[in-house]
Amino acid sequence: MFDMPRFRGAPRAAVRRRKPQAFGAAERVHPSEERRSQQAGLLQRALQADNVLSQVTDAVRFVDCGDNFETVGCPHCGTDVGEWWTLAMEAAHDQQFADLRATTPCCATTVSLNDLVYSWPAGLARYTLEVLNPGVGSLPERVHQRLEQLLGSRMR
Ligand SMILES: [Zn+2]
Repeated sequence: MFDMPRFRGAPRAAVRRRKPQAFGAAERVHPSEERRSQQAGLLQRALQADNVLSQVTDAVRFVDCGDNFETVGCPHCGTDVGEWWTLAMEAAHDQQFADLRATTPCCATTVSLNDLVYSWPAGLARYTLEVLNPGVGSLPERVHQRLEQLLGSRMR
C-alpha cells in the first residue's frame, strides 16, 4: 500500500517545519558517492544545517515535505486535483512508478505526476538530500544551481 501524505488545510504560514526538509529530488538519478558527498557538504554549509542526509533508493518513491504537504494542482488549469491525485498515485505505485504519465480529470491534460503543482516541493525520485534543522529558511538560487551542476540533472 502506498504511504499517502495527509492533506492539510492550514495556511502556509501557520505550518511548522518539524520534520527534515526534503530539498533535492531527481527522478531516476543515482549519482556517485563522491557527487553525493559534495552536494551534502555544499548544502550543509549553505544552509547552516545540523546535518544533511543523502539517500538513494532502489525504486522511485514519492518524496514529500513532511508536515508541509497541503495541496496538488493541475499545471494546466490550476484546479485542485487532490482527490484524483491520491488514486493516480496508487495506480502509479502499483506499477512501481515505471510510467508517471496521467490524464487530469479537470481539463484532460496528459501530465507527469512529477509536474503537478505541489504547494511545497514534492515529487518522485530515487535520490534525495534531506536537510536537518536548517539555519536558513530557504535554499538560495545559486546553491540550487550548483547542486544541479554537480548532479547533471534538474533538482527540486
Ligand atoms: Zn486541469
